[in-house]
Amino acid sequence: MATAAQKVSLVGAGPGDPELLTLKAHRLIRRADLVLHDDLVPLAILALAGPHADVANVGKRCGAKGITQDEINSRMIAAARRGLHVVRLHGGDPAIFGRLAEEVDALETAGVSFEVVPGITAGSAAAAALGLSLTDRRKSSRVIVVSGHRATKSAPYDKTDWKEVAREDATLVVYMPGSNFGPLRDELLAAGLAPDIPAVIVSRAATPEQQHRTATLGTLHELPRMDSPAVLLIGRALDRARRKSKQTVSIALEEAEALLSSH
Ligand code: SAH
Repeated sequence: MATAAQKVSLVGAGPGDPELLTLKAHRLIRRADLVLHDDLVPLAILALAGPHADVANVGKRCGAKGITQDEINSRMIAAARRGLHVVRLHGGDPAIFGRLAEEVDALETAGVSFEVVPGITAGSAAAAALGLSLTDRRKSSRVIVVSGHRATKSAPYDKTDWKEVAREDATLVVYMPGSNFGPLRDELLAAGLAPDIPAVIVSRAATPEQQHRTATLGTLHELPRMDSPAVLLIGRALDRARRKSKQTVSIALEEAEALLSSH
């Protein structure tokens, strides 16, 4: 008798901290026979898979160099048809700049059932790290999630897109922001945003290596290069992040002074 095909689980692993996994993601990873994961999923999370599990990196950077989306889809489908529990593990939330839609299309076409388990997306983790509300109702009435990734090499940022998203009342969350912010700054200023609007870049949010730097739109190009992955936030709702950095610095100075005077 043929084995019944299993449901494929398309799971969000969150930003990196294993404690930010959902209980459902945790359970599914532990019982998976095959885990196909993105580059961004850390070892601490992959280590939750059982000793019998086949854990494969299908990310673009390291792991399986040159693996295509079609190959990922075929592998998921073939394993599910063999009756294996397949977890396709995405960094953050599978529906935010992941290839969720393509995977769902492929599974549907193949007649393999699936479930999507959301995860905490990088923008939420970055806001949480800084105690920020992306929709602080006093300053922001919308969140605009965009990718800074170039559409083509010759046009680093798509002009019409940035005009559309340049709004005083919005918090912009830029995934894959790269490290050259000059063109983005120029586009947003040209679209009418004020140069004093706060900006924060958060690198490796929700990991032990988390770091952030603040700037304003006008000084965006002066932000230092940060370790990847990093997410860039721009908007009035980020005022607190700047105040917080100043506070941290002044507390550090006070502590240093207290230490010196006690010696
Ligand atoms: N699905 C993911 C995003 C994948 S695109 C999510 O929902 O978070 C990859 C981009 O996500 C990176 O270039 C970076 O901009 C962002 N990112 C992912 N993890 C991050 C983290 N821990 N800290 C900061 N940015 C992160």
